[in-house]
Amino acid sequence: MAPERETLEADVLIVGGGPAGLACALHLANLIRKHNESGSKPELSAENIYLLEKGREIGANQLSGAVMDPRGLRELVPDFEKTAPLDTPVTDDAAWFFTSSRAWKFPITPPPLRNHGNYVISLSKLTKWLGGLVEKTGVNLFTGFAGSSLLMEGERVAGVVTDDKGLDKNGKAKSNYTPGYELRSKVTVLAEGPRGSLTKQLVNRLKLDGLNPQVYSIGVKELWEVAEGRVAPGFVAHTMGWPVPASMYGGGWLYGMQANRVSVGLVIGLEYADPLFDPHEAFQKYKTHPFIRRVLEGGKLVRYGAKTIPAGGWYSMPRPYADGVLIIGDSGSFLDAQKLKGIHMAIKSGMLAAETVLDALVTNDASAKSFSAFQERVDATWVKKQLWSVRNFHQGFAHGLVPGLVHAAFQQISGGRGLVDPMRTRAGYEAYAHLDGRKPPAERFKGDGKLTFDRLTDVYHSGTRHDDDEPCHLLVSDTNICIGRCTTEFGNPCQYFCPAAVYEMVEERGERKLKINAANCVHCKTCDIADPYQIITWVPPEGGGGPNYEGM
Ligand code: SF4
Repeated sequence: MAPERETLEADVLIVGGGPAGLACALHLANLIRKHNESGSKPELSAENIYLLEKGREIGANQLSGAVMDPRGLRELVPDFEKTAPLDTPVTDDAAWFFTSSRAWKFPITPPPLRNHGNYVISLSKLTKWLGGLVEKTGVNLFTGFAGSSLLMEGERVAGVVTDDKGLDKNGKAKSNYTPGYELRSKVTVLAEGPRGSLTKQLVNRLKLDGLNPQVYSIGVKELWEVAEGRVAPGFVAHTMGWPVPASMYGGGWLYGMQANRVSVGLVIGLEYADPLFDPHEAFQKYKTHPFIRRVLEGGKLVRYGAKTIPAGGWYSMPRPYADGVLIIGDSGSFLDAQKLKGIHMAIKSGMLAAETVLDALVTNDASAKSFSAFQERVDATWVKKQLWSVRNFHQGFAHGLVPGLVHAAFQQISGGRGLVDPMRTRAGYEAYAHLDGRKPPAERFKGDGKLTFDRLTDVYHSGTRHDDDEPCHLLVSDTNICIGRCTTEFGNPCQYFCPAAVYEMVEERGERKLKINAANCVHCKTCDIADPYQIITWVPPEGGGGPNYEGM
């Protein structure tokens, strides 16, 4: 029987407290203040805006060490440089090509990798600061609450149901059980980050997909404290080549931050053919390259994280509006895949959504027709210009690095057109090749415990916490496929693509079965994206769970 739920009513409900959701809340609260000050009717209140964040605090799920183009933030908070926790401006940038033992510096840094004018930031600290600004406006921030399901009235989104608290692993009520709230709202804004679970439901149900299916990359990264003087704050290095095979899309980075901190990471396109490829292992090997080793050696691992990135660009964007709902930030594919930058676009998409929502509140019209103004706003700004100029970028790498670079050069001189426009693509999981008798490795990567680590050591450094006695948030709809077809055809790639050792095929009493160590999950969503049969669904665990990057 469905539990009895308390109902709360809001004008606007924003799901997700990352840069997009917070920018939407802050800009909308400012617009409402101006609207009321001008004497316009109806009078509105920022207190009728609710924002849900699944992390235990704003910023808890956001890992440090990103390069931010400040364009969006400057529009949102014009004097941000006075108070925002910007770690350091970029002081130097360069690109290298790696072989396993050598590094060749590009004579000039390719334009997309130039970062002068940008900042290396801790996204956790930045979102925490933004959350503070939002709170001052009277917006209600609910941290530790996830949106579990959409409230639908026909084809209209009428709000969300939040997560039930206090269920045990069998779904039975514990002594602290509290059913989730029914949060009803005139407007719902989905800002859940990449592969949002509510966004996925909505896009599938209303067929909002773009021309191409969305494709993703996974970024695996660590934050280190290194010996004094190893790397200057503001130094930004991007690398291509080793250890990413030439048939795959990917590359690495190393950013110097204040207090001898270094962000190091590797991005891999989730459309590779080898089902046994392990992005976490590739990242660990990356750190053994002499160029990276020289910086990290003798230092200390501080934090670990993994995140997916929507890489499909303009042609993979879902229609970002429907009756009662807007989709912003990474959930809406607002990310420049060539520059690997999304924070500025997430913020701007949140601001444009806020302007659209204000009109909807004033006219009392939150229909899809009214919300088509959001798309018009996007089309009229630098967001479309930037995304349009790289609209075929990621697709160009479908056949590997060299064709991708050639295609990228054509796009650069043709305003994004390239050789074929629009260039079509397929979902990444369709690229897996069958094992054809190839055996999975007998042993998994262990690391040396100093420079390189196994996945469990890294998970420990993510601060991830989930209650062991809560329902599993990784739903596998047919485990017979795991022990049968998937074992034979692909060798169970979930054991390899998950960077947190969540999935294991084990033998129990002579039977092979899938074991899910859900408590390890760092919320990267890779399994939901890269599972070859699309039988894994990531749903939010009890709010407050997940990695903890507070203060990092
Ligand atoms: Fe990422 Fe899925 Fe593994 Fe969680 S279980 S860490 S979402 S791949």
